[in-house]
Amino acid sequence: MTVTEFEAMPAVERAADTPGLVVMKFGGTSVGDADKLKRVAQRLVAARAAGSKVIAVVSAMGHTTDELVTLAQQVSPNPQERELDMLLSVGERISCALVAMAIVDLGQSAISLTGSQAGIVTDSTHTKAKIVEVRAHRIQEALDRDEIVLVAGFQGVSRESFDVTTLGRGGSDTTAVALAAALGADACEIYTDVRGVFTADPRLVATARKLDRVSFEEMLEMASSGAGVMMARSVEIARTHNVRLHVRSSFEDREGTWITEEDDPMLEKALISAVVHQREETVYRVSGVSSATLFGALAAANVNVDTILQSSAEIVFSAPPEDKRAAAAALNGLGGAWEARDDLGKVSVIGAGMKSHPGVAAKTFATLETAGIDPAVVSTSPIKIACHIPSDHVDAAVRALHDAFELA
Ligand code: ASP
Ligand code: MG
Repeated sequence: MTVTEFEAMPAVERAADTPGLVVMKFGGTSVGDADKLKRVAQRLVAARAAGSKVIAVVSAMGHTTDELVTLAQQVSPNPQERELDMLLSVGERISCALVAMAIVDLGQSAISLTGSQAGIVTDSTHTKAKIVEVRAHRIQEALDRDEIVLVAGFQGVSRESFDVTTLGRGGSDTTAVALAAALGADACEIYTDVRGVFTADPRLVATARKLDRVSFEEMLEMASSGAGVMMARSVEIARTHNVRLHVRSSFEDREGTWITEEDDPMLEKALISAVVHQREETVYRVSGVSSATLFGALAAANVNVDTILQSSAEIVFSAPPEDKRAAAAALNGLGGAWEARDDLGKVSVIGAGMKSHPGVAAKTFATLETAGIDPAVVSTSPIKIACHIPSDHVDAAVRALHDAFELA
């Protein structure tokens, strides 16, 4: 059994349907330097000239967020999360101000807004805040003045403390989808450094193929199993609020991958859509603690639990490496015995087709066995088989499974 603990849905109410509105989100690599910022500006101006109203959500430039995290750690081994949010929110403010400047130079009016100014209201969970409301009147007024609106992604303002919050790593996707949902945009376009969603990571598998369409359900499993292309929570918001999502390249004009409903007649009816991987995921073994107590404590510590396996003697679960400190603190407070393994990654075979076709698990295990790989933990959902395997076997496993399921 896999229990993926998605964060609660934000209560984003659709404030209005805004025909002709498009939300365009640009990731860090798309705004990595001054030239790229100018290219984004050109793309936004072109979309406006073609008749769309445009909201753009931008990530921090390149590795800015990572660099700020490192800087914080150099100053303080255990920085306060409120201050971390103050710091990290700056990255997105820099890039959206710069893009706004470049747009104005192209002769189109534009305004940049912080998450708070844009009306992204969140709870108070610093570094992992959830959006509770979108108060988009400033955005609406700017659109009415014919401005392109730049919104700093990944951040909001706490409704209780009015402090700056951030939405968790990759959170600009969530900003974009929440705005598209709240304003009733025609589409939410996720611009990135790859052409769309692939059958496997193209850096790893030369024959990986771009998918034209993927269902929300598959995309959700892919995103939460390590496909870096979108933050899982943003896909869930899109599904709930029926936001049309298009993942595409910021460096070319071709169509990318549309994320659509499962009953879309254009959806490829493949048995398996993709093999995704994660190079590292911490796997914990716990005994002497009840599952209710354990997962209650982990939830309170905001640990993003993925796989859960329970037997009479012990509980096994996995969580992202960045949650390790929080998990350890929670586990130490419970009095049971626990250990963690850091040498495992995960490879997942995902496809809506496996609901109606037996044999996928058998083929997955046979393929891994032939490659000499022994899974340490196996978990499944109706459309996924996930195997935790040693990190240094992940690449070989992805290639072998991509071949075995003939995804090339
Ligand atoms: N800049 C933030 C991060 O690196 C948010 C984002 O890019 O979506 O996680
Ligand atoms: Mg991202």
